[in-house]
Amino acid sequence: VIEIGTPDRKVVTTCAYCGVGCSFEAEMRGDTVVRMTPWKHGKANRGHSCVKGRFAWGYASHGDRITAPMIRERITDPWEVVTWDEAITFAATRLRDIQARHGVKSIGGITSSRCTNEETYLVQKMIRAVFGNNNTDTCARVCHSPTGYGLGRAFGTSAGTQDFDSVEHTDVVIVIGANPTDGHPVFASRLKKRLREGARLIVIDPRRIDLVRSPHVEAAHHLPLRPGTNVAVVTALAHVIVTEGLYDERFIRERCDWDEFQHYAEFVAQDRHSPEAIALLTGVDPQDLRAAARLFATGGNGAIYYGLGVTEHSQGSTTVMAIANLAMLTGNLGRPGVGVNPLRGQNNVQGACDMGSFPHELPGYRHVSQDATRDVFERLWGAVLDKEPGLRIPNMLDAAVEGTFKGLYVQGEDILQSDPDTHHVAAGLAAMDCVIVQDLFLNETANYAHVFLPGCTFLEKDGTFTNAERRINRVRKVMQPLNGFADWEVTQLLANAMGAGWAYTHPAQVMDEIAATTPSFAGVSYELLEEKGSVQWPCNELHPEGTPIMHVDGFMRGKGRFIVTEYVATEERTGPRFPLLLTTGRILSQYNVGAQTRRTANTVWHDQDVLEIHPHDAEVRGIKDGDWVRLASRAGDTSLRALLTDRVSPGVVYTTFHHPDTQANVITTDFSDWATNCPEYKVTAVQVALTNGP
Ligand code: SF4
Repeated sequence: VIEIGTPDRKVVTTCAYCGVGCSFEAEMRGDTVVRMTPWKHGKANRGHSCVKGRFAWGYASHGDRITAPMIRERITDPWEVVTWDEAITFAATRLRDIQARHGVKSIGGITSSRCTNEETYLVQKMIRAVFGNNNTDTCARVCHSPTGYGLGRAFGTSAGTQDFDSVEHTDVVIVIGANPTDGHPVFASRLKKRLREGARLIVIDPRRIDLVRSPHVEAAHHLPLRPGTNVAVVTALAHVIVTEGLYDERFIRERCDWDEFQHYAEFVAQDRHSPEAIALLTGVDPQDLRAAARLFATGGNGAIYYGLGVTEHSQGSTTVMAIANLAMLTGNLGRPGVGVNPLRGQNNVQGACDMGSFPHELPGYRHVSQDATRDVFERLWGAVLDKEPGLRIPNMLDAAVEGTFKGLYVQGEDILQSDPDTHHVAAGLAAMDCVIVQDLFLNETANYAHVFLPGCTFLEKDGTFTNAERRINRVRKVMQPLNGFADWEVTQLLANAMGAGWAYTHPAQVMDEIAATTPSFAGVSYELLEEKGSVQWPCNELHPEGTPIMHVDGFMRGKGRFIVTEYVATEERTGPRFPLLLTTGRILSQYNVGAQTRRTANTVWHDQDVLEIHPHDAEVRGIKDGDWVRLASRAGDTSLRALLTDRVSPGVVYTTFHHPDTQANVITTDFSDWATNCPEYKVTAVQVALTNGP
């Protein structure tokens, strides 16, 4: 029951769900949130919000919150509630003991895209400067790591090129592998407004998402491709543009490497990349694909928005580079209304990546092998840093199973539920001597933990989130931490217990350190954020007001780079036993694994995941709407109710992953992106059969 009172104060803060980064006023009575109202001055949302953000405070006071630290010798023992001192000493002693027995590189940590920039920065700093290795990774590993790789190679920086305002100047939009209506609702509203004003839309998605046809919005083209064939479709679009001479030669000559373009153009012009040649493979009508390519190349300002339907594939990085090629080919970069725009799933995916959470990169996307960069951090941190890249999350788990990786600190992430191949994750966690989980609730990963450190909601801490348009928004504490400490303070306690001498007293000091070490953040400070409301990086001497649109005069890397993107079929194949392809996504009313939305009182929340199946596929299996079905893959099986719909094509089924009962990741494979190990969540060969119940 939500008790509504009269607020006595308001605090402006930032929604902690998706990468839109809406600003809200938390209206408070004492230490209780009365309501959250979208802030009209918020530059990302301009007074709008979605249902998740409006009710985002409910879980903060849920009875499941753990507010005292707990430890146990073995994961089979019951939890013992202890003081913070005891918990931190227990954790630090275990980690140091592991390192003494198994070496400096036998422990590591995982940062969270849900946490603030300052928290994330401190976790990777602790791992590098205190643990003494680069075994730091982030949950962006399982969502947008291919964006980091692909855009970094093409343009020289791993970020979306535009601000959200840019959509107001677009004439043709490609939405590929994203469902903004459900995943990024406030941005979707702005996009729909532009579409109602006359912009044309091309949707590339296996599923007929809401944008394809909704009130007053109809896509000019929907290319319902077979899951796993993104690269073939995007390359075919480029084929049409190159072979029909529709590319922007002036832009390419001025802004891109011409030799690489010529090599790329020869590649895409080959007949095997034509819409007709790939039709059987992709299931996309060649005439529709040709018309879409012509529209994008000739329709005016062209913008591309994409999501996890691009990245969570074995060719995720290749698709990101293919999209970058398409934007350069058509000259759609460096001005309002165009660009390559990854829609980030979580509130601070961009920030987690910016802050050096990856095992090969220090803050600001600089490789750990760069002596000059390491030197900056070594002098400031007073530590010698490892120049070898560390382990990614899947490598940590593999090494744990092999017995060489023994200790893990996980902040704000439930890897058992959110990472692929649940059985393997469990085996890796079970093989470790010290797993430290810092979270709001006893999540699934905590079943394998030896130390549980209670975490804070976004309402209980100060800091910043960076949204999908590189906008750094302030997060302001509206209530005291229920557990006594903000998350950044807990990291400081652990680091100091392991020998560091940190003395931060406020996250603003952490931001000052980020600014001192990271060129794209050099001008960022809490004072500036108070003055401007928010600012988009790069923000430094060259761009003191921040940078709404990137690559205006040139790419960060100099010349834009065309990269040949050869389609390689996923190793996941359908066959007689598993004839259907499963792909996954979100619904508007739930957020990721539902840890927060399922603990927030609201009648619109959906209480179960369902399986969308085409009526034809259902009929041949004797399945009716609402029946319980067993969904089985080579990896595992689960049960859920069927929803008959022609939103999915015959041969394709679809579900969401919000409820732990469904355990969608028991089904998914362990295939991953060739460049980044981002899991291939979006393609799994499955069979569906009637069953009696859950
Ligand atoms: Fe929060 Fe995203 Fe909804 Fe905005 S669109 S209120 S950031 S969940």
